[in-house]
Amino acid sequence: MKKRAISLISGGLDSIVATKLVIEQGIEVVGLHFSSIFASKRDRQRGHMALRTARELGIEIVTRNKGDDYLEIVKNPRYGYGKNMNPCIDCRIYMLRLTKGLLAELDASFVVTGEVLGQRPMSQRRNTIELIEKRSELTGLIVRPLSARLFPPSIPEQEGIVDRERLLDVSGRSRQVQYRLVETYGLSAFDLPGGGCLLTDPIFSKKLRDLMATDRAYTTKDIELLTVGRHFRLSPSAKFVVARNERENEQLAVMGEAPYITVDPVDFKGPRGILKAEELSEEILLTSARILARYGKDVPGTATVEIGDGTSRTFSFQVEEIDSDAMLIQQEAP
Ligand code: SF4
Repeated sequence: MKKRAISLISGGLDSIVATKLVIEQGIEVVGLHFSSIFASKRDRQRGHMALRTARELGIEIVTRNKGDDYLEIVKNPRYGYGKNMNPCIDCRIYMLRLTKGLLAELDASFVVTGEVLGQRPMSQRRNTIELIEKRSELTGLIVRPLSARLFPPSIPEQEGIVDRERLLDVSGRSRQVQYRLVETYGLSAFDLPGGGCLLTDPIFSKKLRDLMATDRAYTTKDIELLTVGRHFRLSPSAKFVVARNERENEQLAVMGEAPYITVDPVDFKGPRGILKAEELSEEILLTSARILARYGKDVPGTATVEIGDGTSRTFSFQVEEIDSDAMLIQQEAP
């Protein structure tokens, strides 16, 4: 077994300390960071931080994206969801399997993680950690420097590649030990603990659930769109998205290409909308236009919108109040 490991670097506190603990033992480490379409704003900042973490630790780092096969896991996780659409157990297994697949490529023999026993309710209970290790086919090959002494020795520990006596027995949510260690080692390139990916967000989860239930051919673009604008379900096969500010207006202009079409106000001030519908019926257009008018200013009694479906046509409609709140996907059904 080589004295070289892949260490999962999130950009957070636990991973920097865990990695430092093995580097201090003379183990050569290559960092691995996972990016994902479900990365929250904070996760994306952490992605940048992960690069800084690696620089501060003086290690090489590679990034891998969770691919399309990850979408299948999110849709149908073997071990279920957390509070929202977060399939944390399956997600950990997925990441560790990918890591296992990289061992040969990165010339490493084992994996280091910043896991702490009992720190997270779903994925860091003892039996769950053991299950994840087994299902990722890395049995005995994961070293968890922060909690190692609370687990049976891993193979690198048994073989004396890693000195178990110099690993820790941290458990639970307190980060006192980790904060003490970053001070001792003079480390600063890490993000504060907490947060989760977009799948832990209740509103995002609701929109994702709606997308998965209604659109059999959804794409990554549909998922990216879930973080932009207000989303209205007009019918089982039609969805309308309305920008909330100028920045989103511009984002929707870029995203409003087929199969989406843009809906823009012509004779009133208001936001841009984009529509995805299997069939562009008059009724769907009317509902979209009326929703847009609801967010507009100085809307005339008979208003006009421009339909960007490649024909540059306009659509005039009688403005009437519409119960669009009932169609908002963010809201609980009344
Ligand atoms: S919070 Fe998101 S990224 Fe983290 S383990 Fe859970 S599903 Fe995966």
